[in-house]
Amino acid sequence: MAQNKVTEEYGSLVFSDADMRQRLPKPTYKELNRVIKENKPIDLDIANEVAHAMKEWALEKGATHFTHWFQPLNGITSEKHDSFMTPQEDGTVLMAFSGKELVQGEPDASSFPNGGLRATFEARGYTVWDPMSPAFIKDEVLCIPTAFISYTGEALDKKTPLLRSEVALETQAKRVLALFGREPKRVVTTVGPEQEYFLIKESDFEARADLRLCGRTLFGAEPCKGQELEEHYFGAIRPSVNAFMKELDDELWKLAIPAKTKHNEVAPCQHELAPVFEQGSLAIDNNLLTMEKLKLLATNYGFACLEHEKPFAYVNGSGKHDNWSMSADGRNLLEPGPHPEDNLQFLVFLACLIAAVDEHADLLRMSVASAGNDHRLGANEAPPAIVSVFLGDALSPVVDALIRKEHAEAHEGELMDLGVPALPDIFRDNTDRNRTSPFAFTGNKFEFRMPGSQQNLADCNVVLNTAVAEQCERFCDYVANCSDEDFYAVAMRFVRHTFRDHHKVIFDGNGYSDQWEAEAERRGLPNLRTTPEALPALIDPANIALFEKYSVLDEAECHARYIAKAEKYAKLINIEANVMVHMARHEYLPAIIDYSGDIATAVATKAELGIEAAVEKQLAKTLTAGIDSIYELAAELDAKNSEARKIADPTERDLVYRDNVIPAMESLRAAVDSMETICSKDCWPVPSYNDMLFYV
Ligand code: ADP
Ligand code: MG
Repeated sequence: MAQNKVTEEYGSLVFSDADMRQRLPKPTYKELNRVIKENKPIDLDIANEVAHAMKEWALEKGATHFTHWFQPLNGITSEKHDSFMTPQEDGTVLMAFSGKELVQGEPDASSFPNGGLRATFEARGYTVWDPMSPAFIKDEVLCIPTAFISYTGEALDKKTPLLRSEVALETQAKRVLALFGREPKRVVTTVGPEQEYFLIKESDFEARADLRLCGRTLFGAEPCKGQELEEHYFGAIRPSVNAFMKELDDELWKLAIPAKTKHNEVAPCQHELAPVFEQGSLAIDNNLLTMEKLKLLATNYGFACLEHEKPFAYVNGSGKHDNWSMSADGRNLLEPGPHPEDNLQFLVFLACLIAAVDEHADLLRMSVASAGNDHRLGANEAPPAIVSVFLGDALSPVVDALIRKEHAEAHEGELMDLGVPALPDIFRDNTDRNRTSPFAFTGNKFEFRMPGSQQNLADCNVVLNTAVAEQCERFCDYVANCSDEDFYAVAMRFVRHTFRDHHKVIFDGNGYSDQWEAEAERRGLPNLRTTPEALPALIDPANIALFEKYSVLDEAECHARYIAKAEKYAKLINIEANVMVHMARHEYLPAIIDYSGDIATAVATKAELGIEAAVEKQLAKTLTAGIDSIYELAAELDAKNSEARKIADPTERDLVYRDNVIPAMESLRAAVDSMETICSKDCWPVPSYNDMLFYV
């Protein structure tokens, strides 16, 4: 095989399976693999040997420190670096790393969001090695992916419930497969996260407090041009961005992150990166690393990378599509094959999935709720806040026929004649791309399109995995007492009844239309428009029971997560409101006052000369009125924010933020933005949308 830079460097910073095979004694390697494959705990002797091999490898790669890399409830990753260096009595140092250090760490848990689970006086937390995600080197630090739990074993992170939900799904999916005579070693979820982001000039980023502190613009008049010319999507990538993307690919590939597709997105300055899918929790780890690299490497090219869901009004925001499927020893369980109507195993899993989405639509919506994502969902640029399933031309007829107790043939891919002899005829894909659906079947996987660009996908995968596990179990119960001869008929009845009972969640039409909103209401589908409406699903007793049943989260953990999410919403909006008041008082007002003063002076000077200057006079008046209203609206926002902050109950506080503070933010923004359109460019204290979105 021809070697090139990519094949040589791919995975060079990851302690891979091949490295382990090469460096560990054979019995140790075999035992390690067995416990990983079977999801069993690792004993200390094995851990010591792995730690030694890992350290030797890391030292050869120039590492000096190690860290337990984990994902507290703020959703981003955390690390504390410890050196391998161990001083000896003779004044020299040894580089040491033990099995215990590999397996377990003890960070102070009190300084991470914990939703009240841990009081400061009992702050101890543990990080625990997750051997399913390989260790890697980042900036001379050996990073060991870990789960983060409290002293008493409650999950304090995003990863622990994710791993638990993967176990639940694997257990139940294996039971389903056993009924079909299959006994795979492993059933895993596969996840392919498509990451959208913006790149703007770092100098613009630095010049705006809202971008620096909140990751999004809180002010800004509408640019002269937006995305209406549809020229950015898939457009030629500008050379500076291309150079950035190349280095990003190189760095990700070294970490064995299979970055595959990159392109310009719909909004100006917006881009997307999609990796090849991987096992669920690994894909999510890798997405977090990707997000970190995006931000860090951007600065090498004079860019700032914005991962916020809505950096700019007037153009699209950014999402992160969660492509999801299940795989049994490498076989995709959502592959319909040429005749889905006869593929009973596929139909069972499809039915389970549809029932899972319908029954737990509220939880799925909850899992993607955030202050940032509220700007996207339902704003005609991303799916609505209503969860529905798109099946498309290939599967909808099959499902409809099954409900009618008929036997339908799936649509064959059609041959299309393009009318140009030189172009080869092509097959029309069976599933067209309905971009407006939140949960779309795309050939052999589902694409959940609601997550926001800066979210950790663990939350929505926890919900999906657990909800599907529940339905798989329901299937097993349904067929439990039937004889082998009856299995086909009973299983088919399960499929038919499930499709019938959950048909209301299937919708192939335009999800952006107002008719759909009305129709969804008629069908009784939840439409949880904002985060404060969506979050309480997490503490709904029925939902807590679901998580408890599958040992994914217990009641205390659900409550803690709810509190952490509710508090985060209020905290983010509080910060945004603070920044707005600050910018209004310290940047916009002084600038507009200066500018209007200059004009007033000019008007006075002209008057002395007998020059009328009616336009300037009017402008000075308008600017002064603008100053008055910005002054008042900033004071009003400040007061409303202070009021909201005082509320002790997190649920009530979020509602007040949504209903009182956000409207006050919108009013202040409108007042400032209207001044931007009439002030001189020179006086304006921050870069405009025109500058930031259309840089050269
Ligand atoms: P599109 O933009 O049309 O949605 P992309 O190629 O950008 O498509 O992204 C599709 C994503 O889906 C990729 O990350 C891909 O690896 C992933 N994917 C493909 N098959 C599966 C699967 N079986 N399970 C999970 N993800 C998958
Ligand atoms: Mg895409």
